[in-house]
Amino acid sequence: MPYIREIITDGHPTLRKVAKKVQPHELSEPLFQQLIEDMFETMYHAPGIGLAAPQINVSKRLFVVHLQDDDKHGPFVVVNPKFALVEGEIESIEGCLSVPGIVGDLSRHEHVVCTGLDRNGKKIELDGAGLFGRCLQHEMDHLDGVLYIDKAKNVRPAVTEEEKAAVAEVEGAGPAHDRAEADNDATEHDAAEHDASEHDTSDRDAAAAASA
Ligand SMILES: [Zn+2]
Repeated sequence: MPYIREIITDGHPTLRKVAKKVQPHELSEPLFQQLIEDMFETMYHAPGIGLAAPQINVSKRLFVVHLQDDDKHGPFVVVNPKFALVEGEIESIEGCLSVPGIVGDLSRHEHVVCTGLDRNGKKIELDGAGLFGRCLQHEMDHLDGVLYIDKAKNVRPAVTEEEKAAVAEVEGAGPAHDRAEADNDATEHDAAEHDASEHDTSDRDAAAAASA
């Protein structure tokens, strides 16, 4: 049974460590498989579209991603990920579950190819452009002890609808909310959040247009 783990926030030393490579024998251990289940559960509950192990205070090189838009973008777990290709540059507005309520502007690669192992130790390759590509880069940074706020300009509280959508886009709350509810998630939400969700599609379009 999966458990929701606590997401640690900026200031916690684990977020600043370079995470350790996962050893092959770990993959077959029940505790490691439980960790993966817990990471998905914690990400869906947050709600978010990506979560790296250091964010739940486990300094190992793996992350989970699930954009929940179609079946091409997850759910995936990537163990010992690497980028086989990075190209292009794109402006991104990002937020992070470990830096709640804050957004910032930064530059990311437009397209990445991420390779690694799945939960059974089988090789996988994820091709990431747009939001998916930015999410992969954001999660990879967590494994190296880097937070997006280290690279971002104009770090600020998420106030406008576009900024709230941006928080949601790369990692945290908002657009994923309705989908989490659809999964019978019993998350409570207030009127303001609900209002933001209703503008979900247009905000995402606006953010996409802004970063194109
Ligand atoms: Zn993050």
